[in-house]
Amino acid sequence: MKKAKPKLPYSFIYDLTRLSQGALKQVFESAYEARLHKILSSNAKRLVKTLKIDQATGLNLTDAITLVEDLIEVQAANKLQREEFEEAERKALLLPHCARSRMDRHCMADFDADVPTYNCQSCRDYCIINKATALGKAEGYDVYVVPGGACAEKILKDRKYEGVVGVACGMELKMGLPLLKKLGIPGQGIFLTKNGCSNTNFNLQSLESIL
Ligand code: SF4
Repeated sequence: MKKAKPKLPYSFIYDLTRLSQGALKQVFESAYEARLHKILSSNAKRLVKTLKIDQATGLNLTDAITLVEDLIEVQAANKLQREEFEEAERKALLLPHCARSRMDRHCMADFDADVPTYNCQSCRDYCIINKATALGKAEGYDVYVVPGGACAEKILKDRKYEGVVGVACGMELKMGLPLLKKLGIPGQGIFLTKNGCSNTNFNLQSLESIL
């Protein structure tokens, strides 16, 4: 039977790994200074043009602006929720299943549909999910490797966490903000530096500093 094509939150594929860390830092510093959603759009447009983010990523101007707007919004939310998040005791770390180094039968993670989560079996030292899982557990987090936003919602609703760190693309993180507000859970988001259906990536140092 033909497998259904996974639906991506974005209609476009991006890869921010070709952007310098300095350029990304400038986006986030601007986010902190800007804060106000009213000027979000013009600020994002300015940043895309100044840092040539469309050229670096190969995205068209509109998609690049959308991406930067989402990154700014998530970063601003991180700043706003940081204090409350730090006070939370019971925390979950939600990792994206698409960052597993192998998404085929070579990935030894078993999927527990009741939770729902993949349980990483640490079969590959270099796998970013293996490394991120170890980091999260060492910091006292319950770690879940989830296939999408609906699974994340079920985990947060069922397990009554006081704080959450989520790794996902900017749009998915942004879509999660109203849910966190509804559940009264402070959250911190780490965006994927490369999105897509598989072989996605994120920055482990950014994750480590936010945990
Ligand atoms: S380390 Fe974990 S997530 Fe990565 S391939 Fe192995 S079982 Fe899968």
